[in-house]
Amino acid sequence: MVKKKKIIKQPSFEIGEVSVEAGTTKIIRIPFSSFPDHTDFSLNVKVIHGRHEGKRLFLSSTIHGDELNGIEVIRRVLASPLIKRLKGTLVAIPIVNLTGMFMQTRYLPDRRDLNRSFPGSETGSSASQLANTFLTEIIQRCTHGIDLHTGSNNRTNLPQVRCDFENEETLKMALVFGAPVILKAKLRDGSLREASEKVGIPSLTFEGGEALRFNENAIRSAVQGIFRVMGSLDMIPAEKCVSIKHSPIISPVSRWVRAPATGIFRTMCALGDKVLKGDVIGKVSDSLGAHSVDVVATFDGIAVGRTLLPIVYKGDALFNVAWVPDPARAEATIEELEEEADLNPALDDPSTY
Ligand SMILES: [Zn+2]
Repeated sequence: MVKKKKIIKQPSFEIGEVSVEAGTTKIIRIPFSSFPDHTDFSLNVKVIHGRHEGKRLFLSSTIHGDELNGIEVIRRVLASPLIKRLKGTLVAIPIVNLTGMFMQTRYLPDRRDLNRSFPGSETGSSASQLANTFLTEIIQRCTHGIDLHTGSNNRTNLPQVRCDFENEETLKMALVFGAPVILKAKLRDGSLREASEKVGIPSLTFEGGEALRFNENAIRSAVQGIFRVMGSLDMIPAEKCVSIKHSPIISPVSRWVRAPATGIFRTMCALGDKVLKGDVIGKVSDSLGAHSVDVVATFDGIAVGRTLLPIVYKGDALFNVAWVPDPARAEATIEELEEEADLNPALDDPSTY
């Protein structure tokens, strides 16, 4: 008689007051404060705890309440059949800043920016309490993290990941993620990324699209990037992920080109376009057509972010340009990476189409 191989399940995953058994999924509400009518103010989390031990990855979005792309990214990841074969644990928090999302604002009711409030404390303001809950209940229970953002209010970003190049594990995740651009970004005081790195959890920040909108290309780029990272961490079968044919463009520095005058702004440069020092990349004119001032690029690179506002004041940030050694080659690579993201909906939720 052939003996049946005994499957050893991994231990339960403990979060909040809840224990999630191996091979099960749970939605968990972690209250940390309350509204004036005594409704709980909570962090709402979905935990998928695979049967077998592996890495524990958190996916968070909408830490800035008006940045919504990540909600759709996480929905598609959770709906994928690949998740049924998960090894390890996926901890998904599609809306971290719930009140900000309701009010369509970046901030919390205490007017604080949650992404500047880490590590937070149990006795601080609501942003500080939420940051502290996120740190202790999510970050410290995981081994890796990906935090999803868009451009801030009235700005749009080319899909990009931001990471600290000094952390090898984080840089490895960024390269595997495969967004068109990887930007070197110092750890910002009070940010989730800083809090995460301080407790030894490598985490990436993804930025793509604009606030209060869904941007399909940025969503696809993030969904595929997350699966590639999960594949590289052996959480899902790597061969099922869409591989990228080109390496992302790496930029060690980016700077804003600012408005040379007050007036009506027209852009002459799309996201992902190459920019050469001296190029005219926009115009600022007055409404009666008397004056027009060129917006001139101050160094070579690629446009990775820009304002969406047509009315600008002298000194306003117009284009975020990431320096790259060969802008023409970078432009071609970005175009191909964006096309790859567009042409590969294979891992997206089929009900979307
Ligand atoms: Zn953000």
